Amino acid sequence: MAHNILYIEDNPDNMMLVKRALESRGYKLMEAVNGESGVAVAQSQEVDLILLDINLPDIDGYEVARRLRASDKASLAYTPIIAITANALKGDAEKALSAGCDVYMSKPINIRELWARVEAFVPAPDSK
Ligand code: MN
Repeated sequence: MAHNILYIEDNPDNMMLVKRALESRGYKLMEAVNGESGVAVAQSQEVDLILLDINLPDIDGYEVARRLRASDKASLAYTPIIAITANALKGDAEKALSAGCDVYMSKPINIRELWARVEAFVPAPDSK
């Protein structure tokens, strides 16, 4: 059953918002509050999709994406990564895609867009 979503995000308000939104659809949210720990979770656990903040306190989201794509764990070459960018107009989106992300969303997070983008890769367990 594919429904494990890893969210790498240092902002607790965004984490709470996304946790509630995705758990209401039956997904399981795994949380990482910085880039290094996010990479570690992705390497060691079964993750079906990754939501990736770009502005993180240690390594940035671009570096996270590059490390995931270069990982020895083969599945991380194609696990979907959705970048969540704060500065879409400043080239964040293009940089996120070149770093290996599949798509991007802009902050502030819109819940309907989040559901649609996640469901495009991983069907919602509770959807009917
Ligand atoms: Mn951030």
